[in-house]
Amino acid sequence: MANAGDFAYTLKQQADIVRVVGDYVKLRKAGAQNFSGLCPFHSENTPSFSVHATRQFFHCFGCGASGDVFSFIQKIENITFPEAMRAVAQKFGIAMPRMSFDSEAEAQDARMRGALLEVHERATAFFQETLRRPEGALAREYLKGRGLEDGMIAHFRIGYAPDSGFVLRDRLARDFSDDILRQSGLFSWKEG
Ligand code: ZN
Repeated sequence: MANAGDFAYTLKQQADIVRVVGDYVKLRKAGAQNFSGLCPFHSENTPSFSVHATRQFFHCFGCGASGDVFSFIQKIENITFPEAMRAVAQKFGIAMPRMSFDSEAEAQDARMRGALLEVHERATAFFQETLRRPEGALAREYLKGRGLEDGMIAHFRIGYAPDSGFVLRDRLARDFSDDILRQSGLFSWKEG
C-alpha cells in the first residue's frame, strides 16, 4: 500500500493551487507568481487573500488563514484531509493509490509526513537562495575553491545556512504550525 504522506506530497507538486482556489475565488495576477482575491474565509471588500503559484500555498493577510491546496479544500468544503486529497486528485485526473485511513490519527500522520517533506523542501530552497545572496559570498568562494561548478551546486542543491536560524524560522512560521517546525528537526527548541 502506498504511503499516504508521500502521495500527498507528490500530488501537491502536480496540483495547481491557483486553479483549485480559482474555482472558489476570483483571482487576479498580482505578481510573477502571485495571485490575489477576496478572502473566502472572512468578509472583506479589498483583497488581502493571496495565492502563490510556485510555492503552492495561500495566505490571507486579513484573517491569517493559510495553508496548502489540501487545507484550502478542507477548510472551504469542511471535509477531512483524506477527502480533500481525493478531491484534488480527482480534479486533476490523478489516480489515487490504494490507501485507507483506519483512524483520524492515521490521516493526521499522513498529513504530518506530507508537511514535513514540504517544510524540508522549503528550507532547502531557502538555503540555496541564501547561497546566492551577499551573505553567501564566502561560502561561494569556498565551493569554487573546492572545484564545484554552478551546475553541480544546482544539481545537488547545495545551499548556505546563515548563522541565525531566525530568518528561516520566521519565514516558515508564516505557513507551518509550531508543531511541524518542531518536528522538522530544522531548529532546536527550548521547551518553555
Ligand atoms: Zn481572510
